[in-house]
Amino acid sequence: MRKKELLVYAALGAGAGVVAYLATREVNLIPVVVLAGLLYFLIYSTGAGRALGRRFVTQVSEGTCPRVTFEDVGGQGAAKKELLEALELVNRPDRARRLGIRPIKGILLAGPPGTGKTLLAKAAAHFTDSVFLATSGSEFIEVYAGVGAQRVRELFRRAREQARRAGKRSAVVFIDELEVLGGRRGRYSAHLEYDQTLNQLLVEMDGLSIDDDVRLLLIGATNRPDLLDPALLRPGRFDRVVRVDLPDREGRLQILKVHTRNKPLAADVSLEAIARETMGFSGAHLESLANEAAILAMREGSAQVEQRHLREAIDKVVMGEKLERKPRRQELFRVAVHEAGHALVSELLNPGSTSSLTISPRGGALGYVRQSPQDDFYLYARSELEEQICVLLAGAVAEELVLGEPSTGAANDYETACQAARRMVYAGLSALGAVDPDLVSGDAVQRAMSDIMTRQRERAQALLRPREEIVRRLAGRVLECETLSGEEIRGILEGGRRPPCGTTPTVRLLRSPSGRAGITSRGQNSPAGVKKPA
Ligand code: ATP
Repeated sequence: MRKKELLVYAALGAGAGVVAYLATREVNLIPVVVLAGLLYFLIYSTGAGRALGRRFVTQVSEGTCPRVTFEDVGGQGAAKKELLEALELVNRPDRARRLGIRPIKGILLAGPPGTGKTLLAKAAAHFTDSVFLATSGSEFIEVYAGVGAQRVRELFRRAREQARRAGKRSAVVFIDELEVLGGRRGRYSAHLEYDQTLNQLLVEMDGLSIDDDVRLLLIGATNRPDLLDPALLRPGRFDRVVRVDLPDREGRLQILKVHTRNKPLAADVSLEAIARETMGFSGAHLESLANEAAILAMREGSAQVEQRHLREAIDKVVMGEKLERKPRRQELFRVAVHEAGHALVSELLNPGSTSSLTISPRGGALGYVRQSPQDDFYLYARSELEEQICVLLAGAVAEELVLGEPSTGAANDYETACQAARRMVYAGLSALGAVDPDLVSGDAVQRAMSDIMTRQRERAQALLRPREEIVRRLAGRVLECETLSGEEIRGILEGGRRPPCGTTPTVRLLRSPSGRAGITSRGQNSPAGVKKPA
């Protein structure tokens, strides 16, 4: 008999004893009986008690074998390879046993949000013909001591039970946000509940055996592997740690292919071009992009998804929905001048780098310039960071040149430019040379940053001053067309024919004067900084 049941019987016995004692003393028991009845009605008849007891049960997804296969996971070649290797051992226990291989009990998928960790876990369950139970680390944590540990036991029990019921030999238990349940022990001194829950998980993992009638494989997912308790990661527990990173260009192409499989694509669609323009996007962003493109096509009554729908969908995923807000004419001109400054300097420093310029408000921006890098990059050279800062400051410089003064619209640019300058200082790329972040004074950092910013501002001024006429021409044209493609921008810069309005393209965003302020230098999904090679 379990401890909980023993306690219930003991309480019932004690209650009966008290009632018998009160009866012998001729105490009126009617109010006690009415009160007990009322309590029973409240807790059980209203379902509250049952709901409390089963709360966790409803939050674990149903245990069936998912239909997702590894074919449905685009890119992630290295992660898939490592996972498949581990799953082979689960699929062929006899072979593993013959070779004396210790069974794999847990696989940890670590990487940024939306990169396909849940998808991989489902594909793993399909591959091993297992039932799949998914839950999240946060579901285990309650303020009541012992509840988390109880839920861990319940999860493993249910996985076995469901596999038996479905006639399967194995079950995959997927725990998302593992860091919530499996964080370093001792972090919360006043809260032993976390530690008890993790201890129970370790106990359950230690109890897994290759000879169990239902083999259990635990797959954990986390965005913060650094927070996990070392005991979880030691051999024999989460044996494999598989990195699931943001996809590279080829990976993005594969993911786009997966998510456009069921969509009619027009002949002009180049998924390669979209993959090139979406550096920093996760699988979830790309799924959303494909979906938004199809919605745009439907809105227009188009039977097929065209390239312009996909390009506009990039803007929508990065910046948000188009806004109805219509700025005043003078404001619109200011936005156009500001964006023209960004675009012109970007083209002067890196010909062919802009892919669109628009003054239609979207999300928090009144306009933006999108730059599309030719290739993925993981490091910035000093000159690249300097160019980035120069392009960022060019919006305000253009405003000053044409309109006599800058506006609050440049605040966001300054913020991003400062971040880039600070990164340069701490990476040893400023006049200060290599710095120790703990020893260098704030003043020295500020001076070095100001130095960098001043030089780049002067550089932008030197580039734009002799080209004021081109800035005005570019601004005038975008006022007419609302959006200019990269080709149109370059046509205007070369002083060629006036191209017709109407092409809608586009990524590295230079957002513009928004209500709050602002032109940003990169899309929010682009790498925020110098990303070191893995
Ligand atoms: P989180 O860490 O936020 O839980 P996750 O890494 O588990 O995210 P998923 O839930 O697997 O991400 O992915 C969300 C959605 O994004 C999926 O349903 C799928 O549509 C899409 N997706 C993500 N990665 C891929 C991929 N590699 N291939 C195809 N689709 C993907």
